[in-house]
Amino acid sequence: MSHKPDAFDNALEQLRIAAEHLELDDGIRQMLSEPKKVIRVAFPVKMDNGKVRVFKGYRVQYNDARGPYKGGIRYHPEVSLEEMKALAAWMTWKCSIADIPFGGAKGGVVCDPKHMSQGELERLTRRYTSALGDAIGPDVDIPAPDVYTNAQTMAWILDTYSQFKGRMVPAVVTGKPVSLGGSLGREAATGRGAAICTREAGKIKGMLLKGATFAVQGYGNVGSNFATILEEMVGAKMIAASDSKGGIYSKKGLDPKKVLAFKEKTGSVVGFPGVREITNGELLETECDVLCPAAFENVITAEVARKVKAKMVIEAANGPTTPEADKILERNKVLLVPDILANSGGVMVSYLEWVQDLERLRWTEEQVNTTLESKMTSAFNHVHEEATTRKVSMRTGALIVGVGRVADAVKTLGIFP
Ligand code: NAD
Repeated sequence: MSHKPDAFDNALEQLRIAAEHLELDDGIRQMLSEPKKVIRVAFPVKMDNGKVRVFKGYRVQYNDARGPYKGGIRYHPEVSLEEMKALAAWMTWKCSIADIPFGGAKGGVVCDPKHMSQGELERLTRRYTSALGDAIGPDVDIPAPDVYTNAQTMAWILDTYSQFKGRMVPAVVTGKPVSLGGSLGREAATGRGAAICTREAGKIKGMLLKGATFAVQGYGNVGSNFATILEEMVGAKMIAASDSKGGIYSKKGLDPKKVLAFKEKTGSVVGFPGVREITNGELLETECDVLCPAAFENVITAEVARKVKAKMVIEAANGPTTPEADKILERNKVLLVPDILANSGGVMVSYLEWVQDLERLRWTEEQVNTTLESKMTSAFNHVHEEATTRKVSMRTGALIVGVGRVADAVKTLGIFP
């Protein structure tokens, strides 16, 4: 699940392209090419076997010109500073495209959570939080879950931070359990946002989505919500789905809720009755209208891109398409909705969670979904307009909108002293 070591080079290349279109001056380019602050920590954790292990952690605070830093925390053996820098830059552009008042950040700890007990993970999380100290906070930097962290991890961060402050500070993290101030609608938000993008993309492509076929790689939180909501929203038909164990295909169609129930019961979509089994590679090449990679990065390589038959690719995962594959899809007139737009529903509802915590309000799920609907549609249309006007891809259009707003904020603030 990790990014290549050159992830930050990719992020800088994207920034360069956007900066050229925006004709940014050299000073602003330099300011956007480096994170504002990098925090590197090493901290001890008592393991279950009685021994002490020292873990390395990071928090990269990329840019806060538009508001407090915001971004996930990842636990993975391959976490590196370069990867954190790239993800923090992308968070900055993503929050800017979503037009929410946040900057961008990312954090992580180098560890192997699959081989750690709940107790070890709790002690690691609490010690990492205390090492970060006042570098996080509701007005400073607000963490959220990412790969191998979840609502429970956020609850431990919230509790540790609040113990130091002597009062409960729910707005210090988002993606918390609802019982601790998390928002209704947060769990489905990323999949819902991606479904809204598909509906809007259908309109610009002049494609009737009722009865249109789609395939989902990675039937997890995002993939399964995307499938269920897209079916309900436009009447599209899922014909293929996969997870780490393999994929399933049915020309007649798969019921998204039944597939999810089967996966929850057995641990995989594989074995679902009455279907043909396929590999993850075959899934990407399935004859269908919409392809949704919702697992991890770099799955659509140049070689795969040449075989993609879908008319649209909705990037629910972060970074699923390599830069070379991007060019091939564009040449083949496949409409690609880029990750920094397609999966921004999650951070949009994180923002609504933060607002509810600060105001001590509780919104209904309907209020959350209605606000997400209007923010997502508006972000999509803004990016599409920019892409059409400048005759560029949706990815470049999204980068221009995202980088452009941050650059404008940086320029208007001026330089102190
Ligand atoms: P998840 O862990 O719930 O689901 C991931 C799914 O991918 C699982 O079903 C897993 O079995 C499957 N998978 C793992 N390896 C695979 C492989 N080799 N081939 C096919 N499938 C494989 O995670 P999630 O929260 O749904 O996140 C999925 C993607 O969406 C990630 O790229 C994540 O960064 C991105 N994303 C998530 C959110 C969010 O709110 N959860 C927000 C923005 C972006």
